[in-house]
Amino acid sequence: MNSGHNQNNIVIIRFKNFIIIIALTALFLPGCATTHGGYYLKHKGIIGAEDLMTINGAEYVSLDGFCGRNGFSVSIDPVSGVAEFRGYNAVAKVLPDSQMVTVNGSAKRFSPETVIRDGRYYIAPSLAAFLMQGTAVTGREKKTEPIEVIRGPTVRTVVIDPGHGGKDPGALGRYGIREKNLVLDIGKRLKDDLERDGQFKVSMTRADDTFISLKERPRVANRARADLFISIHSNASKSRNAKGFEVYYLSDAADDNARALEAAENESLLYDTGSTAGAPPDAVEATLWDMALAENRVESRELADYVCDASKDGLCTKTRGSKSANFYVLKGTHMPSILIEVGFVSNRSEAENLNDPNYRQRIAAAIGDGIRAYKAKFEKTEGFTKKAGSD
Ligand SMILES: [Zn+2]
Repeated sequence: MNSGHNQNNIVIIRFKNFIIIIALTALFLPGCATTHGGYYLKHKGIIGAEDLMTINGAEYVSLDGFCGRNGFSVSIDPVSGVAEFRGYNAVAKVLPDSQMVTVNGSAKRFSPETVIRDGRYYIAPSLAAFLMQGTAVTGREKKTEPIEVIRGPTVRTVVIDPGHGGKDPGALGRYGIREKNLVLDIGKRLKDDLERDGQFKVSMTRADDTFISLKERPRVANRARADLFISIHSNASKSRNAKGFEVYYLSDAADDNARALEAAENESLLYDTGSTAGAPPDAVEATLWDMALAENRVESRELADYVCDASKDGLCTKTRGSKSANFYVLKGTHMPSILIEVGFVSNRSEAENLNDPNYRQRIAAAIGDGIRAYKAKFEKTEGFTKKAGSD
């Protein structure tokens, strides 16, 4: 990973922070397009040559060096390992081995992740640049530097996550349906649907009947730098009348039905082996995750609404609407994420439908339509920062 890659990351991370991105891009542009973050920081006197270090092939800035030169005070929590550094207009917190950073209370991601070497913290050059943007970039530079490498916000990479798999069968219907097989089939159909016109790059957390832990699934999406994460499940209820297509996005405020469902889906954690494979994230990382998810919540809800709307047109089943719930698998993704319950395998008519390949194809097509509608709106409004139709 080089810092050119980092710049790309910065550009695609938060579309709604468009103004910040413009400022940041301006910061990186002087010199030439291939200017390294570290080189630029050094050139500007933000860090010294001795503060730059290559770790695991990536360029890093020494936290002590950066803070010392720029008047930041540093304090490290010995229990959590969180380093807090305070300047005159910014307070940032970093967590070792995490890309998550909070700046003045809002979470952002900076690549490469914060690391500790020989007891010293090292941060991404882009984070150092970000923190100095108000002070290091003068008005004159902002005006004179051309801004031409901005990429418009796009939705291209989608990771599809068919629930369960392997030793974890998921919900078992009374009509011979196993959730893990059903959702894999629909996931594959959705992949084909999205790839049909070349608008999307799609990968799957599993493409066969293998077990993948709930913790690993979001990591697949994060590694792929996905723009969207779509987890597919089917529902079961003691009430045989319960039926419907539902879309969930992550929120802490969930109603009772959502809590019950969330408990059922989170049971996959029991299948995780190994000491920490299924353990919930520790409190500190959970807090950072919560902040990241707050950043993606608007987009996730929007995506849920679009998929729901598409299902009303494309499916004959009742749409229960998009709800919020605290699904483990949606925690830890760094992008807008939804969990779809395609129907109740415990309901007779719905199970019959789900056993029909044509019906499963219609579900996949409806989800695909919802994602395309979301993409169109997102790109037209530059990540919902503009009203659609206005220029
Ligand atoms: Zn499930």
